Amino acid sequence: MDPSRPPLPAPRSLLGLTIDELGAWAAARGLPAFRGRQLGEAIWRQGATSAAQIKGWPKNLAAGLDGEGPLLPAVEDRRQEAGDGTIKTLLKLHDGKLVECVSIPTATRHTVCVSSQVGCPVGCTFCASGLNGVERDLTAGEIAYQVLHHHRVRPVTNVVFMGSGEPLFNYANLIQAIRVLADPDGLGLGRRRFTVSTSGVATRIRQLAVDEPQVTLALSIHAADDETRSRIVPLNRRWPLAELMAAMDDYSTLVNRRMTLEYVLLADANMTTGHAHDLAKLALRYGAHINLIPFNPVIDTPHRRPTTNEVKGFAAAVASFGGHATVRGQRGADIDAACGQLRRRAEATAKAPVH
Ligand code: SAH
Ligand code: SF4
Repeated sequence: MDPSRPPLPAPRSLLGLTIDELGAWAAARGLPAFRGRQLGEAIWRQGATSAAQIKGWPKNLAAGLDGEGPLLPAVEDRRQEAGDGTIKTLLKLHDGKLVECVSIPTATRHTVCVSSQVGCPVGCTFCASGLNGVERDLTAGEIAYQVLHHHRVRPVTNVVFMGSGEPLFNYANLIQAIRVLADPDGLGLGRRRFTVSTSGVATRIRQLAVDEPQVTLALSIHAADDETRSRIVPLNRRWPLAELMAAMDDYSTLVNRRMTLEYVLLADANMTTGHAHDLAKLALRYGAHINLIPFNPVIDTPHRRPTTNEVKGFAAAVASFGGHATVRGQRGADIDAACGQLRRRAEATAKAPVH
């Protein structure tokens, strides 16, 4: 390595580069571009966790990289495994911050649910992630690593941005993480395998249609009238439904893919017949599928989980108004599966006085 050059960038950022970009990174350090490619293949294809494991790298080169810190940007801090195979992991980042990611295996798929921020600035009234606001954005490498973490155990087939954070408020890193994970020389996940869930950042919805038209958009609608929605999703005060729908109209014009509407069922807030009617009407306008998600109780939130009968009644009402809805089966019901819950529990434990 050329000693006159500045030190290598912190290795945590290397996970945020595509294989071609790693080649350019190597070239900028005075190394042949193939060294960058070897590094990328070692990380994404061969599961290398330290520079010493990079095949074909001379010892002094590996030592140079090792001197910069760990090759991977996070370590597992704790995990919870549910009876149905769902695994929720809490990853500790280089600065000690904690983020959750969840592995959801089925017979034919392995879906990983990733976080995009530490905490969330939106503050929906039912969600553990937003209770204490946002601490910081995740880097592209930190987002991509969450997938790699679970991929090492079983190849990942699908990625959903439904962990903590609002992905469209961390837009550049979201797009870069998708590019890295879709890189055919790396994991090579097809773009149709990604679902980006948003609470309604209207401006970025339009941009996503241009930048990544093949990913699936899931809109966390939770109410289709402004009064109810503003009460439970504070972002609605910034982009009320008329503005959100204008963005969705533009999105639908550009993207020929079915979007999903997510609707958390809160017994006390958004489950009247009127709510069902408005939801069905909105879904029909976009030919969207509706995912009904019974509220996963979170302490410090004011909401009540609906009974099975209330859920059935609401689903039937939506269907009677012409909406296509399914009730999301609860995966990982016996662990802290709602987004943000495991981190909250871990932090509460860490802060609890020691007796
Ligand atoms: N911020 C983005 C993505 C992360 S949240 C968004 O809001 O879409 C992903 C999904 O988890 C959202 O649809 C959200 O409403 C849902 N969710 C959050 N807390 C929940 C809870 N306690 N019970 C059920 N679903 C919850
Ligand atoms: Fe943020 Fe999504 Fe939770 Fe709302 S539901 S607070 S947008 S993570």
